[in-house]
Amino acid sequence: MSIGENIKHVTARRNAAAERSGRAGDDVLLVAVTKLHSAEEINEAIDCGITDIGENKVQEIMDKYDHVKPVRWHLIGHLQTNKVKYIIDKVCMIHSVDSLHLAQEINKRAEQHGLTMDILIQVNSAMEESKFGITTGQTGELIRQILDTCPHVRIRGLMCIAPFEENPEDARVYFAEVKKLYDEYGRIEHERLDFKYLSMGMSNDFEVAIEAGSNLIRVGTLIFGARDYSKKMG
Ligand SMILES: *Cc1c(COP(=O)(O)O)cnc(C)c1O
Repeated sequence: MSIGENIKHVTARRNAAAERSGRAGDDVLLVAVTKLHSAEEINEAIDCGITDIGENKVQEIMDKYDHVKPVRWHLIGHLQTNKVKYIIDKVCMIHSVDSLHLAQEINKRAEQHGLTMDILIQVNSAMEESKFGITTGQTGELIRQILDTCPHVRIRGLMCIAPFEENPEDARVYFAEVKKLYDEYGRIEHERLDFKYLSMGMSNDFEVAIEAGSNLIRVGTLIFGARDYSKKMG
């Protein structure tokens, strides 16, 4: 199947899942995850209606940025503080903030560029050691510290990568836990806390994530096919 057909297929499944949870399909933003895929493939996806793309490595954004048509770039992978400066003026949102140190570096670079950066807090609700993100119990404190010390950062919501489950139903509890936090902390009144995105769900589990309340899904494989890690860039 072509990228265009794949996007249609994923969009239809997204819409159905959104409707099952009492929302419209458009209420759930589809971010096409383009890591290890070429600028040509990304441009094809954009021609087929994709408005937002997600990359998990700074180097790949740098390599492709000038070759990709206008689109919103999301940094969805672990971000080292020493690389923030390279992407601060390229991405619309950083999904993977999991420390005050990182938030403060984003704040510093955003200030230098005269902008306010949108971020999500990455919550590792399954507490998998192999994954980045803070625990559910640390979320409130990190949010408060960021609000107190990072005037050039705006907190737009939470992000979660659930453990890979053979049966995606098994990931529902982890999504549900993050949805609870999202509802709780989204009520904080602060000029730099404006919850709009709950980023949960990938190719394997996006429908369950939507049913659990996600409004931003990050889908790669179902759109572009399997990634070839031997082609690893950068
Ligand atoms: C790779 C990646 C995805 C997409 O994964 P697929 O299974 O290919 O849909 C989503 N989120 C993050 C953070 C990723 O690194």
